[in-house]
Amino acid sequence: MFIDSHAHLADAVFDSDRDAVVRAAQDAGAAAVVCIGASEDAAARARILAGANPGLIYFTAGVHPHDAAAYDAAKDTLWIREAVAAGAVAIGECGLDFHYDHAPRDRQRAAFHDQIVLAHELVRPVVVHTRDAEDDTLDAVREAGDRGVTGVLHCFTGTVRLASAALDAGWYVSFSGIVTFSKWSGDDVVRTVPDDRLLAETDAPYLAPVPLRGRRNEPRFLPHTIARIADIRGTTPERIAELTTANARRLFGLASDPGAKV
Ligand SMILES: [Zn+2]
Ligand SMILES: [Zn+2]
Repeated sequence: MFIDSHAHLADAVFDSDRDAVVRAAQDAGAAAVVCIGASEDAAARARILAGANPGLIYFTAGVHPHDAAAYDAAKDTLWIREAVAAGAVAIGECGLDFHYDHAPRDRQRAAFHDQIVLAHELVRPVVVHTRDAEDDTLDAVREAGDRGVTGVLHCFTGTVRLASAALDAGWYVSFSGIVTFSKWSGDDVVRTVPDDRLLAETDAPYLAPVPLRGRRNEPRFLPHTIARIADIRGTTPERIAELTTANARRLFGLASDPGAKV
């Protein structure tokens, strides 16, 4: 059994076979999938999917840094609040992406800050996307930790320094199929994360792990990434699956019985 802590199953690329993708994930051993709602639209679709698959699919709600130019504090915090009231297990994904810079950096910072404040108020973890924004992310994570807000740095490709700061703040670190790519050079970061803070994710439909690279990614492919993480940490895939499952349940407050109604 495993938990995919980050998948975009609300994405339009799954419109033609979303139910089959969910069934295939379950057949492959998925105990749960956290479906990311990184826009009002996506969160609404993720919520419907979660409603149709209680105890298996969970959803989040937030504004992605790529969309921060259009961020509207009043409007966006309202629908995120409503989503949380309807069962969203986390706020996000939110964060900072200074690699693509699809939105001005001050807008990204403002949207990120507001979502951390909201996470504090609503007592939910934050799912954080960070790329080439190390110092700003470090400051934000420290500030969040000081407020008692927990979260996860998802699809982590940053430094040991940033991961360590997040761990010190009580946060989790999640690795994706990128760890299976030949250009990956972050084994030391994978080893830095203690057993009780490690998560695994697909970030589907993106970043399919080797040997499926280039295909549309799905939660059922997560065992390839889990096997690679196990290899890096010198343990078994079963052990990594077990501890990442327990960690995802703890962070997101998921039901402990996979079949349980929530
Ligand atoms: Zn992301
Ligand atoms: Zn994502």
